[in-house]
Amino acid sequence: MPKLPDGSEKGLRGHADERGPRDRVGMAPRAGHIDRDAPYQRIATEEAWTFPDLVKAQVDYLESGESNDDSLRMAGMFGSMPKLQGMLQDLGEMRLAHMDEYGIDRQLLLLTSPGVQVVRPGEGTPLARQANDIAADACARHPDRFSALAAFDPRDVQGSVKEIDRAMSQLKLNGAVLNSHFQGHYLDEAEYWPILEALEAHDAALYIHPTAPFNAPHYRDRGFYGALGGFPHDVWLHTMGLIFSGAFDRFPKLKLVIGHLGECLPLHLYRFDWMQYNADGVPGLRGGQPAVNLKHPVSHYFHHNIWITTSGVGWEPAIKFCMDVMGPERVLYAMDYPYQQSSDEVAAYDRLSIPDDHKKMLMEGNARRVFNLP
Ligand code: MN
Repeated sequence: MPKLPDGSEKGLRGHADERGPRDRVGMAPRAGHIDRDAPYQRIATEEAWTFPDLVKAQVDYLESGESNDDSLRMAGMFGSMPKLQGMLQDLGEMRLAHMDEYGIDRQLLLLTSPGVQVVRPGEGTPLARQANDIAADACARHPDRFSALAAFDPRDVQGSVKEIDRAMSQLKLNGAVLNSHFQGHYLDEAEYWPILEALEAHDAALYIHPTAPFNAPHYRDRGFYGALGGFPHDVWLHTMGLIFSGAFDRFPKLKLVIGHLGECLPLHLYRFDWMQYNADGVPGLRGGQPAVNLKHPVSHYFHHNIWITTSGVGWEPAIKFCMDVMGPERVLYAMDYPYQQSSDEVAAYDRLSIPDDHKKMLMEGNARRVFNLP
């Protein structure tokens, strides 16, 4: 196995294993091994990467003191972790060696959170172009191992539309990724809808990945701006905002993918339908938009426009619940490399007691269909 920049071999997996309690929920320590002859490929669909010019642009902007964006602070924190950066920035031998170690056949590469949407205004679109060129090159060098989603900076609407067009038509990428809010703005605001229109026109699934909530000292002061609260809460808001803005009625073929077992949303479909009237048909929302009357119950959009991945939640009862309420065709495997890696977790997927055809859909088939993979 190749050495990491600090000379160690285990990277964040060792980090996670050493820190976590051995009896954490859902995990069976040392209770299995990866099936090397599994009757499915493992396609991991939320796998992170970055590149030096982006990290530099993030850190420069943070250190200038001109921005008060908690997502930019998060970028600065990630930027100061050399072992993590070594793994994020490698699109070659080290990453492939880790994929082989964990039995991952293909990674879907997502430019890591918070991406290009936190840099100085005006710098995001050129950095997105650079990101997409680098990702496309990695896919061309390893067509059997890598696919990638396109980055874009939503603050530049026309630049985003052009870059989505280029990434899908010329670079042949497999959808697009947004790291949730951009300085407190969301794609449910009407000025950003040309981006949704372009995504739908290209049949490009949009993956909304978490970032730290905006202006959130109350999260930061409790250590909750990440996976313990801020991440799922912000993607929850973004997803529900898109639904209640009528985006999926206007763009009925728009495909949205959210991670971490749908950021807890599937557990609430019943209540969402009951309480839909809270925001359905209410005028003046989102800074004064006219009332939107949805064509369907909220749960409809989770059965027609939304797919979820299992990133970070290799937990049998939760995965089964989501497959039950959303349908086995709407749940996709993801690992969340390099932030979360565990051979026990991969083995837990191999042991999942679900029908064989559903397992193949989870690990491989659904990803191929949603992201138009080879
Ligand atoms: Mn992730």
